[in-house]
Amino acid sequence: MSLTAPHKRCERPVRPGAALWLALCLTVSLPVWACSEERVVQTIELRKGVEEHGHAPECSGDTCSETASESTQTGGAEAAHSGHDAGIKRGVDTAGTDAKPSAGKSAAGTAGSKPVQPTAAGASAVAQNGAKPGDPGLGDPDYVDYGNGGYNVSHYDIRLRYTPSEDRLAGVTTITLAPSMHLSRFNLDFVLAVSEVTVNGEPAMFAREGQHELVITPASSLPEGTEAQVIVSYEDVPSRVRVQGMRRTGWWRTADGAIGAGAPENAWWWYPSNDHPTDKATHAVTVTVPEGVTVVSNGLQTMPPTAADQGWLTWSWRSSKHQQPYVSLLVIGDYELVERTTESGLPAIYAYSKRVDTASARPTVELTEEIVRWEETLFGPYPFEAMGGVVAPNDGIGYALETQTRPIYPVGYFSRGGGATVVAHESAHQWFGDSTAIKYWRDVWLSEGFATYAEWLYSEEQGTGTAQELFDANYSRYAPNDAFWQFVVGDPGKERVFDAAVYNRGAMTLHQLRLTVGDDKFFEILRMWTDVRRHSNGSTEDFRGLCELVSGKPLEDFFDAWLFTAGRPKLEAASSARAESASFAPLPVSWAAIAATQTMHPPR
Ligand SMILES: [Zn+2]
Repeated sequence: MSLTAPHKRCERPVRPGAALWLALCLTVSLPVWACSEERVVQTIELRKGVEEHGHAPECSGDTCSETASESTQTGGAEAAHSGHDAGIKRGVDTAGTDAKPSAGKSAAGTAGSKPVQPTAAGASAVAQNGAKPGDPGLGDPDYVDYGNGGYNVSHYDIRLRYTPSEDRLAGVTTITLAPSMHLSRFNLDFVLAVSEVTVNGEPAMFAREGQHELVITPASSLPEGTEAQVIVSYEDVPSRVRVQGMRRTGWWRTADGAIGAGAPENAWWWYPSNDHPTDKATHAVTVTVPEGVTVVSNGLQTMPPTAADQGWLTWSWRSSKHQQPYVSLLVIGDYELVERTTESGLPAIYAYSKRVDTASARPTVELTEEIVRWEETLFGPYPFEAMGGVVAPNDGIGYALETQTRPIYPVGYFSRGGGATVVAHESAHQWFGDSTAIKYWRDVWLSEGFATYAEWLYSEEQGTGTAQELFDANYSRYAPNDAFWQFVVGDPGKERVFDAAVYNRGAMTLHQLRLTVGDDKFFEILRMWTDVRRHSNGSTEDFRGLCELVSGKPLEDFFDAWLFTAGRPKLEAASSARAESASFAPLPVSWAAIAATQTMHPPR
């Protein structure tokens, strides 16, 4: 048995029932975010009407509140931009805007200030004080340059101004981070054209490396244990920014606006981030758009839309629980907002595109409240401050995604007859994938397998096929030599991270685990997993350790057979006979609906 403490922090008091975990879940004091004021945006009024003075969340235990903090206004200054755009291609209008500071196009640039250049003296100072560069990745074996080493982000304050007719996005994002080592420089993941970076109020050097690395060298090194504020100003046309080797982006330009959503990448096209599941942070998203345009993001609106400059409105959203960049959401366009309150008092906010007929989608998506209530009985308390959903137009995102507190669904799924199965799937992700996030992308079955098994449980609940029937149908439908069985689910590789087999074989693994440990232990495992790893991360090894702890059974061979061995695992004779006979039985009623959700994956 091998158990590891959560990667970053255990934020929630462990319940008495989980006492064994108390010693394992090392409670690391959360940084108290003396969240300071971001710079005043001078060339555009990104902040107009939003805050009199800076706010950022202060978290303690399971809750994040807001604490007023000091104002730190920094002067604008252009930063030198050396480096190259090796992996990034831009459209004609924006070509080259990333290569030099451009005060005229910048979100916050101030012409005439002095560029910052690397100096030998600076390098020497870095060498003398022992500071080192942060890694360009976070150790993910498959996505080696996703996320960045050397720091943890606690808060993103994202200020945007968006012009739908041009798909032009200007932004100033303030990142509050804590170095985990003495940093001479560090990376962010971002692909839009940057005009300026400051660190703790001082202009910083920045450069491009690789496909999505923004390398920042602060004027002074950042000691471990301190807090730093990084402000990145940028402006670009996101739909024209392509990354070499990727068929798609996380930015979907629509006829009326845009959608920022995608997996595993999304934030690259609208805010700079430490883009990996293991670095979660609270988010404030403030977007100024022309009047009549609606903006939707995660969490809650902090105030009604307020007047900005003439003909423009500013929308403000805040996600007060820690959030991975890939489940951040930005929806801009012609939407109707529907706000309700759940039986437990949580806000449920839905957004429906007005450009399409959403009549078939609404009653299904609004089952979210009922489905979440049912899932709470299986998985434990709902982990977030709000719920809801977004129904996107046909020219928007092509698949459903578990964006935190507010999953997004393509309208086409419902107009083709799709039902609540997908809502059960994306709602289950709020526990599995969002709150209890994966540690590495190869652990993705812990997210997708669990969400798929939630569909099976929902089918059982609805009387449209038991989990056993769905297991048997899957087992017998794919012959032992079928490609379905010929790869390792626990380590699918970058190209197959969203393969349908990860979903179905992940669910099959959970069903076999349920049979192995019994219903009581199985659901105790699920609830304890979401409790101890709430707002944190876990790996397959961590999960196996918990299963062994709760069940008292050695399970290494079990997980090896179901997750880490190519080929169809053998079943006991009686089970095998039942599964084989399922190939002659009618498929469960829910089979087609569950298969339809399998088309909702992000394509690679
Ligand atoms: Zn999913």
